[in-house]
Amino acid sequence: MPLLPSPSAATTPAHLRYLEDADDVGRLLLRHDWHDYALGPIAHWPPRLHEVLKLCLNSNFPYIVYWGPQLLTFWNSAGSLFFGGQHPHALGLPLHDIQSDAARALAPRIAQVLKNGLAVLFEDMQVIYRRNDYEEEFYETFSYSPILNDDGQVTGIITPIIDTTAHVIGVRRLRTLGDLATQTRSAHSLAQYCESLSPCLARNPYDLPFFALYAGQTDAALRLVAQAGLGEVPEAGLPLQIGMDQGGAPDDSGRFDPAHRLATAMASGQLTVLAAASVVQPVPQGVWDAAPRSVAVLPIRAPAGAEQQFFLVAGINPYKLLDRDYRDFLGMLATQIGRGLADCRAFEEAAARARAELASLMRRTTMGELATSIAHEVNQPLAALVIDANACLRWLAATPPNLEEAQAAARRIVSSGRHAGNVVRGIREFLNGAASTRRHSNLVECVWASLGLVRTEALRHDIGLRVRLAATLPQVCVDTTQIQQVMLNLLLNAIEALQQVRDRARSITLEMCASADGVQILVHDNGSGFGATDPERLFDAFYTTKPEGLGFGLSLSRSIIEAHGGRMYAAARQPHGVTIGCMLPAAGEGPR
Ligand code: ADP
Repeated sequence: MPLLPSPSAATTPAHLRYLEDADDVGRLLLRHDWHDYALGPIAHWPPRLHEVLKLCLNSNFPYIVYWGPQLLTFWNSAGSLFFGGQHPHALGLPLHDIQSDAARALAPRIAQVLKNGLAVLFEDMQVIYRRNDYEEEFYETFSYSPILNDDGQVTGIITPIIDTTAHVIGVRRLRTLGDLATQTRSAHSLAQYCESLSPCLARNPYDLPFFALYAGQTDAALRLVAQAGLGEVPEAGLPLQIGMDQGGAPDDSGRFDPAHRLATAMASGQLTVLAAASVVQPVPQGVWDAAPRSVAVLPIRAPAGAEQQFFLVAGINPYKLLDRDYRDFLGMLATQIGRGLADCRAFEEAAARARAELASLMRRTTMGELATSIAHEVNQPLAALVIDANACLRWLAATPPNLEEAQAAARRIVSSGRHAGNVVRGIREFLNGAASTRRHSNLVECVWASLGLVRTEALRHDIGLRVRLAATLPQVCVDTTQIQQVMLNLLLNAIEALQQVRDRARSITLEMCASADGVQILVHDNGSGFGATDPERLFDAFYTTKPEGLGFGLSLSRSIIEAHGGRMYAAARQPHGVTIGCMLPAAGEGPR
């Protein structure tokens, strides 16, 4: 800006003295050589312009003044914020020469004021222009008030203006974080969380033109589990899978290898910025009229105890620098997602615990109730049987032996034995009676439900659960509750038999196949086995080798299977473990 020598107070014309008393900009205007400018020397500027400048330069509030048809632009010290690198040398130049992009965006509104002479207020107006050395997204609240000359014609515009960019963007980011908290609240699993995460983040395409969440077991491949702004999966430009061993030394060949670049960034464990085109092609544009130039890759702190790791890949607004506020926002987003995932994990664990407890409770309750009532029923004839047997022995040992009494005692023994037999038959009939609820059932689903109940218990004991299913199975007619009870019992027995195993990988395999007359369900384990014990002994009521065992599970299970017209057996496996087999007849083949 060419400056004239500093005028002394004495040489400054009286009508320009306000410039000396005003802010820095006033003194600059006064010392500036205006000869080659449209307005000519400052002393000859229109009195109305001086009036307006006097008002603005004496204010601490930001002001901009547009003068004449060329929109010669002035601002006060506080207003210099809106001109960045153009201050002060561009003072007095046409707006178009100073900020052509802003001039283009504002032109229609300015034209209206110039034409109608009416004041207008704009709140939080989005303007994208080059305030500094790059195009940037700004929000401004300003009023255009016409400056009228003595003839009532509009000769300029006076603009009080405030920059609301920090407020608008701050509120926008806070809303995203708030939405995330409320809308993912009801998610109880990773899948549900991802389902609510995507639409929630998609609502802020300004700060997150696109994003992707990757998840995977530690040291295993990561999968793309949630995304927005990338188009439809699998056409989404980002890799669907990233092997963590894909990272490594930077590849200078310029080859497009997004998985490699992302893996390297993820392995660094901190927020890393990559060129957008190096990881996704074409780079999705989203709501902006330009595509993001960069992406941020951030680790998400995994929930405590999680074996999974998570990473966020976020497209960066092409009209914002990734400054501290932006990084803080992404950091908070990652923290909040981490917390949400931790809550999901806590919920999944609690649900799994509850399921395991329920399975064990179901078993204990059913077995316990039955065992108590059976013990009670059978106990009476058994007690009588023992008393009479002792009496019989006593009568026989007497001298002379009292054969009459001994025979009477022996008859009572037979009668008590029959009674006990009747009780057992009654129990079987009770089980058969329950068969009235049998219907054609999908045995696979029924068995699957029992597996679901023990899955967590198996995981907790590091037991691999495998399932082998024949492609087609004959229809069966069963009481699904009872069959589930049987399966639950077999699976829990197998889990218990595996708990002492230390020298091999623990495994249970559930096999379902068609047999000559129905369906065969086999539960194989590689647990402790039953040694030299006769396998049939396992099915005896009250036979147990467990300190807390009831010894009734297999006996009851066999009763259930036999009541369905099936068979049940146990066999030792080589080199370790047991196979328990159940055969159920195809529908129409067993007794009803
Ligand atoms: P409980 O489980 O209460 O002992 P069960 O009737 O279910 O009663 O089982 C009887 C016994 O059969 C068990 O105590 C155990 O000794 C043996 N048993 C059952 N299943 C298995 C198995 N998968 N591996 C080894 N032994 C088993």
